[in-house]
Amino acid sequence: MAELKTSQIVGTPYIDGKYAAILDMWPLEAPECNRIYPFYDNLKQGRWTTTKCKKCGNIDYPPGVACTKCWSDDLEWVDLPKTARIAAVTEMAGPPTGFESPLVMAWLGFDKSHPLKHLLVRLINCKLADVKNGDEVKLVTFEVPSHPIDVKKETKICDRVYYAFEPVKK
Ligand SMILES: [Zn+2]
Repeated sequence: MAELKTSQIVGTPYIDGKYAAILDMWPLEAPECNRIYPFYDNLKQGRWTTTKCKKCGNIDYPPGVACTKCWSDDLEWVDLPKTARIAAVTEMAGPPTGFESPLVMAWLGFDKSHPLKHLLVRLINCKLADVKNGDEVKLVTFEVPSHPIDVKKETKICDRVYYAFEPVKK
């Protein structure tokens, strides 16, 4: 059984030491809790992936456990290109607990060859004044506080990761 350390039970950095599960907005990424866990396993390796239907070829995002076009559950994981351009960008005042304010949010436009057309994402490592429409951005991953989960009467630490986009340095 994994040793449970107080530092690993922390929920959001903002409320360090006063963890309340209700404020934890990050997904539980372990196979025991999440049927799309390969998405997070791949993210941990720097890969941005989603599910593609083996029957009709449809690519869904976010990934799922069945195709949204034909409902087949015969899916495979495919890599997504990790760059995009900013189509629109703004700041969000009053972000959720644990996030710095303001949050920079962008509506991304992808290359024609990319399976996705648009996606709303968080931009990090920049301020609103640093970016403008048309700028190139790339996927970046970051660690999310680990979360203890119960698996067959044992406590396991679920390491977590998530993604955002950041400007490509010129
Ligand atoms: Zn399908």
